[in-house]
Amino acid sequence: MLTVFLSLVLSITNHPVMDKNENVMKFELVKLAYATDALEPVISKQTIEFHHGKHLQTYVNNLNNLVPGTKFENADLETIVRESEGGIFNNAGQILNHNLYFTQFSPEGGGEPSGKLAEAINTTWGSFDNFRKEFEAAGLALFGSGWVWLAKDKDGKLSITKEANAGNPLTKGLSPLLGFDVWEHAYYLDYQNRRADHLKELWKIVDWKVVEKR
Ligand code: MN
Repeated sequence: MLTVFLSLVLSITNHPVMDKNENVMKFELVKLAYATDALEPVISKQTIEFHHGKHLQTYVNNLNNLVPGTKFENADLETIVRESEGGIFNNAGQILNHNLYFTQFSPEGGGEPSGKLAEAINTTWGSFDNFRKEFEAAGLALFGSGWVWLAKDKDGKLSITKEANAGNPLTKGLSPLLGFDVWEHAYYLDYQNRRADHLKELWKIVDWKVVEKR
């Protein structure tokens, strides 16, 4: 009985097509390190459930459907974002963006950055308050859907970048450190049209330890 079972398992797991398609190139929904209601009242449980469970899941499903048969079959997400365009870029970009987004928040977040990051912010913007104001202003000035990012170049110089739609600073040769999502799906259930209020509130849940590591 056991032998029959094992040979059956082996015959399935050795199937070459299954292996390639199921194990190598499957993109997965990033896990949340907090409960869906843990970021309230800044981001409601309902928004997290739709944003993470529906919107992001859709991007993951789309990319898993689009990539097979293309040159990106064995590529990682960052490579795809750097080198693709069209539907593959849009979905891969949105997965990368949301992976960074959902992992940079914590119910214990807030406050100010420390160490090297704090120094670099002070060097570039004079103070954390000034940086925050400029970051919010960039997010407000972005017309339509997109992202505002804190990014660094290869020499460690910081900048704020505005990216339309699925954009990520990676495509400009920069590394993303912190990203606020200004697509309406990120805030409409909680803040309706008040994007400015939403951006102001988000600082309360930023996990600066995560951002510093990036
Ligand atoms: Mn989003």
